[in-house]
Order: sequence, then C-alpha cells, then structure tokens
Amino acid sequence: MAKYESEEPLLCAHCNGSGEGNYDGTTCQVCKGTGEERQDCT
Ligand SMILES: [Zn+2]
Repeated sequence: MAKYESEEPLLCAHCNGSGEGNYDGTTCQVCKGTGEERQDCT
C-alpha cells in the first residue's frame, strides 16, 4: 500500500489557520472558517 505523506490538513494561508476573516466577527471566505486549506483534488 502507498503511504500518504501529507495526511495532515494544511493551514489556510489566508487566515493562517484561525478561520477568521479580515474583520472581527467575520469568517474566512477561503476555508469557510475551518482554518484548513481546501483541497479540491477530487
Ligand atoms: Zn482561512
């Protein structure tokens, strides 16, 4: 079996993993507040 090297989720580069937007009370539009970088590789 192949071993996955990057199994851990990447932090969103836009909010640096905080999940917050540029303003207080807002949600990061890139990761939708998850703080993880989206992977649309499917
Ligand atoms: Zn984000």
